Amino acid sequence: MLPLESQFFKELLLIKEKNLWRSPSTIEKNQGTQIIINNQSYLNFSSNDYLGLSNHPSLQEAALEAMQRFGFGATASRLVCGTTIEHQKLEEELATLKKTEAALLFSSGFATATSAIPALTKKGDVIILDKLAHASLIDGARASEATLRIFRHNDLNHLEEHLSWAQQKFPQATIWIITESIFSMDGDIAPLREIVELKERYQAFLFIDEAHALGVRGTAQNRMSGLLGELGLSPRVEIQMGTLGKALGSAGGYLCASQIFIDYLRHHARSFIYTTALPACVAAAARAAIKIINSQEGESLHKKLWTHIALLEKLLFQNKNKKSESAIIPFLLGEEDKAQTFSHHLKELGFFIPAIRYPTVARGKARLRITVTANHTSQEVQSLVDALINSFS
Ligand SMILES: *Cc1c(COP(=O)(O)O)cnc(C)c1O
Repeated sequence: MLPLESQFFKELLLIKEKNLWRSPSTIEKNQGTQIIINNQSYLNFSSNDYLGLSNHPSLQEAALEAMQRFGFGATASRLVCGTTIEHQKLEEELATLKKTEAALLFSSGFATATSAIPALTKKGDVIILDKLAHASLIDGARASEATLRIFRHNDLNHLEEHLSWAQQKFPQATIWIITESIFSMDGDIAPLREIVELKERYQAFLFIDEAHALGVRGTAQNRMSGLLGELGLSPRVEIQMGTLGKALGSAGGYLCASQIFIDYLRHHARSFIYTTALPACVAAAARAAIKIINSQEGESLHKKLWTHIALLEKLLFQNKNKKSESAIIPFLLGEEDKAQTFSHHLKELGFFIPAIRYPTVARGKARLRITVTANHTSQEVQSLVDALINSFS
C-alpha cells in the first residue's frame, strides 16, 4: 500500500465507523415506480422523476428518432459541430417556458452552476449564498474570485445584513444573491418575493436554481415552469437555472436569462465551451417532456402528483398543520445509524428510500428523503405510510 493509500484507507475506516459509508444500489430494471435490485422488486420513493416522465413512451420515441437522425454521441463540443436542431429548439422552448429572451444548455445541472457562477462574477464582486444551497452552487461560488458570504437558511435579516455590509465595504461591487426556489433535501421554499425586493433595494443580482420546481410548481397558464413563474417573478430575476434530469425525465442542465447574459456565458462558461455536447437524443427527450408538461396529459400528471403529496402529508402528519411545498418530504431521524437502520428495515418491507446523511445534510440531521411521483398509486402511498408508522412505533 502506498503511504497515500494507507492514509485514505484510515479515513475510509473512520467513515465506516461513523455510519457514513456510501455505495450505490445497482438497479437491474426500472419500470417507473418499481425497481429491481438483486432480483428483488421494490417500490421506489426516492427518485426525482416527479411526473414519471423518464419511462414515458413519447420521450423514448423522440430519443429513438433523434438517435437515428444524429447517431448516439454528439461527436464534438457545441461550438464545433455538436449543436443540432434539437439543441437549438430545446433552448428556444426553455426560454419560452421560463419567459426569458434566451437559454443555454449544459451537460448537467452541476456543470451549469460550477461554470456559470465563476463566469458571471469577478474579483471584487460579492456572492451571498444560502446556507443550504446545493453543492453545485457552493462549488460554483468557491470557484469564483468574488468574495463569498453565507446567509442562514431563508433568513432575510441575515441576507440583508450581508447586502448592507457588501454595499458599504465594496461600493463598486456587483452583488449576486444565489439560492434555490425549492431546497433539495428539505423540500421547503425560499421567500422569493422578499428576496426579489431586497435584491432590488440593494441593486443586486439574483441567481435562482429551480431544479426541484420545474414540472412541480407553476401557474394555471404556465402550469409547471417553476416557482418563479407561479409567483410571476421571472421578469425580476436575472438568472434562472435548472436541470432536465429531474421532473423532465431526461438529462442536462440549463440557464434562462436575457440574450446578453446568454451570449456572454456562451463565451465565458467553460463547461459550456470545453465539453462534448449533450447527445441530440437527450435534448429530443427533454423537448418531448416539455411538450407533455404543456399538454392536457401534463396537467393530469401534475394533478396526480399533488394528490399524492397531499395524501402523504395527511396520513403522515395527521394532527400537525404541515403543508408540503414540493414533492420532497423529509422524514428526519437524526443520528446516521438510526437513519441507516430505518432505511434497511423499509427495504425489507419492499420500499426503496436510501438514508441521506452527512455531508449531503448536516451531521446529526440524517433523514429519509421521501419523494412521491405522479406514477405512484394512492394505495402505494398508503402502504408506505403504514410501513413508516409501524416501523417507527
Ligand atoms: C440535482 C440538482 C442540481 C444538479 O443537477 P444535475 O442535472 O443532476 O447535475 C443542481 N441544483 C440542485 C438544487 C439540485 O437538486
